Amino acid sequence: MTEPPNGPDIATGDDKSTGCDKYIGELFSIEEIAAAVRSCTRCGLAGTRINAVPGEGSNSPTILFIGEGPGANEDEQGRPFVGRAGKLLDELLGVVPLLRSGVHITNVVKCRPPGNRDPLPEEVRACWPYLEAQIGLLKPHVIATLGRHAMNRFLPNARISDQHGRATVWRDIVIFPLYHPAAALRSTTLRQTLENDIRRLPEAVLQSLEISATRSQAPSGTDGSVPADTTSPVSTEFSVEDETNQDRPF
Ligand code: URA
Ligand code: SF4
Repeated sequence: MTEPPNGPDIATGDDKSTGCDKYIGELFSIEEIAAAVRSCTRCGLAGTRINAVPGEGSNSPTILFIGEGPGANEDEQGRPFVGRAGKLLDELLGVVPLLRSGVHITNVVKCRPPGNRDPLPEEVRACWPYLEAQIGLLKPHVIATLGRHAMNRFLPNARISDQHGRATVWRDIVIFPLYHPAAALRSTTLRQTLENDIRRLPEAVLQSLEISATRSQAPSGTDGSVPADTTSPVSTEFSVEDETNQDRPF
């Protein structure tokens, strides 16, 4: 039922979790998803976590931030981005200004990979239906991915150095890749770049609203899709999804 993410590092093969994906598809609120995540045993990370980290924030956010996976602090507290990287994220959101309570923050995998290793393809596959369900319920205008790995779940071949701070439309949602705040902690240049990109988030939200308006004004008898050559008046760095993106989940 649920397609795996299209990233190049996502293993394909037999999916033993189809019945369970159907169950996740029947979770009708963010709270139900969070409860299911907290007791989830769909992958091996269940065996090493202290706490699962479903995500938190507004349940009708304009922007959904997606990191790769919880670190040690998040594992201890069961909340996303509460360590040093999270403090920097809060600080940079304050520049816009955006409040954490006005956005929603989650991760691709909800349990900490031991030693902060990258999640394995089968772990991402097992956890993906939760993110899919969250996006479907939260209906954000903009998904701001944090770091290369989270970005590549949506834009498989993209390079963060090219795509950071650039809006790409995927279905009705603007994907806006950002550098990971942990990387920004290690480099003042990256920190400034991250800040500059975060300052442009309201622009990405406007782009998303323009797309929604264009689609709702489309004459009946058309599918309302944005023509492939449409460019945004507010940014020349605006790209519209192409056909190859159509098969992505949700
Ligand atoms: N890094 C992430 O990607 N997610 C968190 O929740 C914390 C750190
Ligand atoms: Fe379940 Fe996701 Fe945690 Fe794996 S990482 S146990 S799929 S919540």
